Amino acid sequence: MLIDGYGREVNYLRISVTERCNFRCQYCMPEKPFSWVPKENLLTFEELFLFVKVAIDGGVTKIRLTGGEPLLREDLDTFIAMIHTYKPDVDLALTTNAFLLSEAAQILKDAGLKRLNISLDSLKADVAAKIAGKDVLGRVLEGIDKALEVGFKVKINMVPLKGINDDEILDIMAYCQERHMKVRFIEYMENTHADQALKGMHGREILDRVKEKYTIKTLGREGASPSFNYLIEETGYEFGLIDPHKHDFCESCNRIRLTAEGYLIPCLYFDEAMSIAESVKKGDIQGAANVLAQVLREKPKENRWSEEEFEQREISKRAFYETGG
Ligand code: SAM
Ligand code: SF4
Repeated sequence: MLIDGYGREVNYLRISVTERCNFRCQYCMPEKPFSWVPKENLLTFEELFLFVKVAIDGGVTKIRLTGGEPLLREDLDTFIAMIHTYKPDVDLALTTNAFLLSEAAQILKDAGLKRLNISLDSLKADVAAKIAGKDVLGRVLEGIDKALEVGFKVKINMVPLKGINDDEILDIMAYCQERHMKVRFIEYMENTHADQALKGMHGREILDRVKEKYTIKTLGREGASPSFNYLIEETGYEFGLIDPHKHDFCESCNRIRLTAEGYLIPCLYFDEAMSIAESVKKGDIQGAANVLAQVLREKPKENRWSEEEFEQREISKRAFYETGG
């Protein structure tokens, strides 16, 4: 079992397999970064897999592949199959913008991927294009349909932004309910890489929008999930709210993040990280395990997003496209 310095069990590893992306979402990567990590600095799947084995042997039971856009990384299905073959009961999931999903869905399923989280911020083509920086909606919706058709369990992530897509909260919820997908509304997390003019919606404001039409019952946090769940009494539909600004968000944090370059990141908010690259390149299992142990010891108690007014909030310097959100 992996335990951090505050006694929290860490059993969830998120791996960003690339920082590159085919979208330029305003809240994540509105401009192409000045420089990408050169390809030669990326860990190979074999090197990443060495660490994955250390993590699984230590007690990790859930692995999520993310990015950047993970479907841009070549041969992703091979990596999925490596993890699945090593430990078939690992809860193996992927977060994607779905632009390339209709072609990839069956291949990913066959490789052993179990679940998908898909980002969908708007059902209006012009709004989706404004957020992502290009015309994306048609392909994203096709990708979602394909994922459901091949039998994936799908969750939808939406980041509501004031004056942009905040009028679509109920529409996205209805779209998800029709397709038996859970939607999770994510509070916009301020960061220095995003378009600084953006205004996110606080969890309370998101709930108020839902309450304009429905009565909601609080269900609570599901284990160590970052999502706080609610039930719509009129329809029986369950949705989630990911609210990192809330003070109790970090109490049950069970995750660590690994970047494509091999940085092990204990908290999404902070810039601190330690590299496993040198160890895995040498095949040094003990070295990688030592880095993991140190990162766990030093995992911060909580992030610094707060419930203060947006203007007074601290801003994280960490790029979501590097860490994978
Ligand atoms: N490209 C994939 C995608 O968009 O689903 C995976 C990587 S993306 C960084 C993972 C998740 O982080 C997405 O659901 C995205 O909406 C979310 N995200 C990115 N930047 C964010 C921000 N500033 N605040 C809240 N969520 C953010
Ligand atoms: Fe790309 Fe995902 Fe970031 Fe959008 S949120 S720019 S799709 S990595």
